[in-house]
Amino acid sequence: MGKPKVGIFGFTGCGGCQLEILNLEDQLLDLVSAVDIVHFTEAITEHSDDYEIALIEGSITTEHDVERIEKIGSIANVIVAVGACAVSGGLNCLKNLYGTQKAAELVYGDKKDWIDTIEVKPVDAYLKVDHYSRGCPPNRFEIVDIVRSLLLGRQPEIPNYPVCVECKRNGNTCVYELGMTCLGPISRAGCDSRCPNSASGCEACRGVIENPNVNAQKDLLAEHGLTVKDIMSQFNLYNACKGKNIE
Ligand code: SF4
Ligand code: SF4
Ligand code: SF4
Repeated sequence: MGKPKVGIFGFTGCGGCQLEILNLEDQLLDLVSAVDIVHFTEAITEHSDDYEIALIEGSITTEHDVERIEKIGSIANVIVAVGACAVSGGLNCLKNLYGTQKAAELVYGDKKDWIDTIEVKPVDAYLKVDHYSRGCPPNRFEIVDIVRSLLLGRQPEIPNYPVCVECKRNGNTCVYELGMTCLGPISRAGCDSRCPNSASGCEACRGVIENPNVNAQKDLLAEHGLTVKDIMSQFNLYNACKGKNIE
């Protein structure tokens, strides 16, 4: 039996997730030896419509994207959404807060009707997604773990506990003590608390854990004289499409 064929596709995003895969260096060579990469938007010019596994970066923001994603869904057996844009819609969802037409008008003025633009949606609005590699950018080692798990027939280990756990393990000073806000109590870990490690608040680019302890987040805000309202813009940065309610 030949190696599983993998396609890596880019939709609306900055290309940073694909760059993370290219930055794997030694592990990329291991990956390439274990699978046959037949399509890689950012890295190879050849492309093929013969693949079993599709890794998808970016959100769906145009009619053309819809046609492409549906075609991929008709070919691939396994779909992996890679990065916040693909998983939750990511930063692109900020467009939805304005409304598609209003956003097009703000950017393109009287040329707005020339633009192919629709409401931003994550990949799972169109296809059943089998695995999610969250984050902006995602943790590249998690992408490898997902592919490796697929090859070995096991479930990848994706954390379902809050960023605060990693942050405390890393011995950071809580950014609330520095006068900032942070979504760590409800955000999904797996990034090794990347932002608090650099004295920045978490913006939940990896989304919200299942059954978040919203009260822990509210208590932390209250301790610092704040309310949920004070973190909504931080929350919406990556999660406006998913519309999880943290009120
Ligand atoms: S998730 Fe982040 S890194 Fe990936 S394409 Fe979107 S904006 Fe870029
Ligand atoms: S709230 Fe943020 S900075 Fe504070 S412990 Fe949790 S993750 Fe760390
Ligand atoms: S700390 Fe939060 S915003 Fe920063 S990378 Fe991790 S999940 Fe994303």
